[in-house]
Amino acid sequence: MSMTAYRGRFAPSPTGPLHAGSLLAAFGSWLLARHARGQWLVRVEDVDPPRTVPGAIEQQLAALAAFGLGSDDAIVHQSQRDALYQAALDRLLAEDKAFACHCSRTELADQQGIHHYCVARTERARPAIRLRVPPGSVVAFDDGLRGRVRQDVHAMVGDFVLRRADGYWAYQLAVVVDDGDQAITDVVRGADLLDSTPRQILLQQALGLPTPRYLHLPLLLEPDGLKLSKSAAARPVDADHPLPALQQAWAQLGQDAARLQGCRCVAELLERAIAGFDPARLPPGDIRLDADAR
Ligand code: GLU
Repeated sequence: MSMTAYRGRFAPSPTGPLHAGSLLAAFGSWLLARHARGQWLVRVEDVDPPRTVPGAIEQQLAALAAFGLGSDDAIVHQSQRDALYQAALDRLLAEDKAFACHCSRTELADQQGIHHYCVARTERARPAIRLRVPPGSVVAFDDGLRGRVRQDVHAMVGDFVLRRADGYWAYQLAVVVDDGDQAITDVVRGADLLDSTPRQILLQQALGLPTPRYLHLPLLLEPDGLKLSKSAAARPVDADHPLPALQQAWAQLGQDAARLQGCRCVAELLERAIAGFDPARLPPGDIRLDADAR
């Protein structure tokens, strides 16, 4: 019997420094990949220049290196993969699975921003391209931590954007093409993307790509319940002192703190982490931080 080798990934966007929430996703996906004796790849999701912060990706990659979390393959940058995304888009257009759309956000406001049919009153020079999501497009999948997840993508999301009217690639298209191209078998990421997964599965089906397994890690929340990475308190993790940050992420992943006590260097910590990691201890719900634990 042949088994597909495990291939996981961490896909940071260069929108700021690495913070505790992104370290949790990086360390969690790395541990699951190592536990499965698989590979772990880093992909830079830099397809959104208006949101790109200069220097952020260099800072994030340097931080990952300080934490000992290195990519097992060459790091891929989405900004250099236009041809792949264009080929996927051309194919969807040729098969009439995608269409040009001139609707503006204001024009879609009456439909709560959900596109089911075009309401544009004027043609734009550069329309957006959307995936057709017909009625009955219901997607269900088994999340590794959260169990069965189901979404009626037609009702909840509608026809979604693949290439934006400003010409940039939408995250949904780029991530699906790359997960397919890099033969990713296991997507492990923060639960803020749980809602995007049904869209990505629909797009995989439209492109004839396999669907990986998904596991959405808990989010770190402020004491008031706000997502940490969106709040002003999302401070960068201290890559100059990697041990405490890794120990904190380890505890947040529900693992036994004693396993990492007394580590003197990152290499020793990671070795002990691989040996002691127990996926059954991963917490299924989000983590609300104490005011003094940020
Ligand atoms: N680039 C996304 C982020 O930084 C992650 C995308 C993914 O893991 O699918 O939030």
